[in-house]
Amino acid sequence: MSLNIREFSSSAEGFRSELESLLAWDSVSDAGVQQAVANIVEQVRLQGDTALIEFTNKFDRRNVASSSELEITRDELALAKGRVSAELVASLEAAAKRVHNYHERQIQPSWQYQEDNGTVLGQKITPLDRVGVYVPGGKAAYPSSVLMNVMPAKVAGVSEIIMVVPTPDGVVNDIVLAAAYIAGVDRVFTIGGAQAVAALAYGTESVPKVDKIVGPGNIYVATAKKMVFGVVGIDMIAGPSEILVVCDGKTDPDWIAMDLFSQAEHDEDAQSILISPDSAFLKAVKSSMDKLLQTQSRKDIIKASLEGRGAFIHVENMDEAMDIANIVAAEHLELSMDEPEKWVEKIRHAGAIFMGRHTPEALGDYCAGPNHVLPTSGTARFSSPLGVYDFQKRSSLIYCSPEGASELAKIASPLARGESLEAHALSAEYRILQDEKGE
Ligand code: NAD
Repeated sequence: MSLNIREFSSSAEGFRSELESLLAWDSVSDAGVQQAVANIVEQVRLQGDTALIEFTNKFDRRNVASSSELEITRDELALAKGRVSAELVASLEAAAKRVHNYHERQIQPSWQYQEDNGTVLGQKITPLDRVGVYVPGGKAAYPSSVLMNVMPAKVAGVSEIIMVVPTPDGVVNDIVLAAAYIAGVDRVFTIGGAQAVAALAYGTESVPKVDKIVGPGNIYVATAKKMVFGVVGIDMIAGPSEILVVCDGKTDPDWIAMDLFSQAEHDEDAQSILISPDSAFLKAVKSSMDKLLQTQSRKDIIKASLEGRGAFIHVENMDEAMDIANIVAAEHLELSMDEPEKWVEKIRHAGAIFMGRHTPEALGDYCAGPNHVLPTSGTARFSSPLGVYDFQKRSSLIYCSPEGASELAKIASPLARGESLEAHALSAEYRILQDEKGE
C-alpha cells in the first residue's frame, strides 16, 4: 500500500499560505451538530434523568429503564479490576504513580507577604469541590485518559471526582473501570456525549452538578462543553490529535514512520507532519511508511489521516524548522536530533516537547509522567497541558492594619471620586486615621 502524502518545500512560493490551510481546523463549527447538541443540553437541563435516559438509550443503543442502572459502584470497579490481567494492572498502577509524582510538583502553595505598616497581602489556593471527568468511549476505550484527567485532580485535593463514560450497546470496558478504581474516582456513570456533559453541568436527580468538566471527546462532547461553559468551568476544547516531528535526518526512518503512525491511528482527522532539512531522509521515511503500513491493524485510519491532513516539509536548515514548529504550535512536538536541549531553547509554542531520538510521543501518552491532555489546533500559543493548576483556584487575601488602611484610603479616595463613586470614596475615607486627616 503506497501512501499519497503531501510534500512541501519551505522555499516554494506560497508556502506560508499552504501551511496555513494545512493547519486549519475548527472542532465545533458544524451547524447541524450545534443544533442537535443545543436540543440535548436543553432537554437534560429541563427534564433531568428522564431525558438523560432517553438520549443514552438512543445514542448508545441501550435499554436503561431506571437511573440507578447508569451508575457503577466502587465495589463494581474493584471487581472489574480483578478481571483485568495482572500485567495490565501493574502497568496502570505504575503509570498512575508516575503521573502522580510528576503532578505533585505542580502544586501551587498559598502565599502572603507583610508590608512595613502591618498590611498583609496574599493569595489563598483552594481545590475545586467537585469535578466531572469525561472519558470518551464511543469508538474506543481510553484507560490512559482516566489516569491523565483524574490524577491531577486528586493531587490538587478535589473533594469529589465524578467520571462519565459511554458504554455503547451496554458494553463496559474493564480496563477503563480498573483505571478509575486505581485513580481513585468517587462515582462513575455510564453516560456519554452531550447528554453526559449537560448532566454534569446542570445536575440531574442522579448525577450531581459539578464545578468543572474536563476530558476530551468527539464533536458532540466538544460542542456541549463549549455550550455549558460559564455554568461550569471547562478545561479546553480538544481538536484532533497532532504530532510534529522535526528530525535532523539521523534517526532510523522506521522509528519516525511509526511515531507518525502512532498519531495517525487515533482517527482520520489526526494530523502528522514531518519536517527535515534532509530530502533523502524524507524519502527514506516515506519508503518506511509504505513498507510498515501493511503491518498495521488500523491501516485504513492511518492512511486516511496521513493522506487527508499529513505532510512532509523540506526546510533549508534546522533554524527554519524551529520557526515553522513555532507557527504550527503542535500538541506534540518531537525533536528527533542531536543535542535537543540546545534546540528546545528556540521552541516557544508546543503542548509537549519530546526531546531526542529515544523519546517517542507514545511514552508520554501513557506513563512518562507529564499529562497527555494537551492544547491542540495551535492553541499551545496561549494554553498549557492539563495540570494541577486546572483544579485549584485562587482567592486574593487582603488584611489592612489601621495605618495601612489609612495610607491606602488616601490613594483610593481620589480614584473613587474620579469615577464618581461617592460611597466608595467615603468607605475609604472613613478609614483615614484622625491625626492623618489634616483637620
Ligand atoms: P465519545 O465518548 O467522545 O462520544 C461518544 C458519544 O457521542 C456517544 O455516547 C453519543 O452520546 C454521542 N453521539 C454519537 N453520535 C451522535 C449523534 N449522531 N448525535 C448525538 N450524539 C451522538 O467517543 P468517540 O466518538 O470515540 O470520540 C472520542 C474522541 O476523543 C476522538 O475524537 C478521540 O480522538 C478523542 N480523544 C482525545 C484524547 C486527547 O487526549 N486529546 C484522548 C482520547 C480520545
